[in-house]
Amino acid sequence: MRFDGKTAIVTGSSRGLGKAIAEKLGILGANVVLTGTSETVFNTAAELEAKGIKAAAIVGDVRNAEDVKNMILKAVDTFGGVDILINNAGITKDKPMAMMSEDDWDTVLDINLKGCFLCTKAAAKLMIKKRYGRIINVSSVAGAYGNPGQANYSASKGGMIGLTKTTAKELAPRGITCNAVTPGLIESDMTEILPEDLKQKYLEKIALGRFGTPEDVANVVAFLASDEAGYITGQVIDIDGGLVM
Ligand code: NDP
Repeated sequence: MRFDGKTAIVTGSSRGLGKAIAEKLGILGANVVLTGTSETVFNTAAELEAKGIKAAAIVGDVRNAEDVKNMILKAVDTFGGVDILINNAGITKDKPMAMMSEDDWDTVLDINLKGCFLCTKAAAKLMIKKRYGRIINVSSVAGAYGNPGQANYSASKGGMIGLTKTTAKELAPRGITCNAVTPGLIESDMTEILPEDLKQKYLEKIALGRFGTPEDVANVVAFLASDEAGYITGQVIDIDGGLVM
């Protein structure tokens, strides 16, 4: 699997899964554009560049259409286009539904779902012209199967699955594939904050007996982004060590 000459935008790649995905694609030859809402993203890009990866970075909020436009322009100006889009930016604001505010709902839906829509729409414009593209949406097992305390998050991630299938159907005639991955419990800042007893409860349910690593997710995303995966579209792939099956 090689990505030489291809350019990938990975949203929310200052750390965690997004950083691992950008690094994996970069090691395999892709030019990578990293995004995040804080200046940290520049340090992450510099870290990848030190490893010989062709990386650029831009600060922007996936909820904001103007920021998304600038993200695409960054890829075009620096590397000449966009071949691969990884919709990875996402947040949680967990609470039992009875205690969840409208703001908790709106913020999570806006970043996780609307952000995915805006980035897909903007990148697809360029991909359609090229008649080539790979879009991978980082959803979650919570979106496919639900999870107590995550009404907003699971709705956003479930929405991403519907969006994935529609994108796949709309863009297939233009040579563009779109798939989703649904990670289970992966070691990152997002899961670091979970209470120990809850982590232990999940661990007991994971058939492979360990939490996933960001690299476990990056390996599958890289495959879906490759030419080798050209006959796969509209699919949702669990990366959860057998948490749900
Ligand atoms: P982290 O919290 O470690 O990282 C989140 C990333 O998203 C950061 O780079 C952050 O950048 C960026 N981000 C947050 N809000 C925005 C925004 N509005 N616009 C642009 N970028 C933003 O999360 P993970 O790495 O754990 O998760 C990455 C994705 O994987 C998420 O979509 C998450 O839902 C999904 N996922 C994670 C699982 C896990 O177990 N970790 C399991 C299943 C799915 P900055 O800090 O600069 O804002």
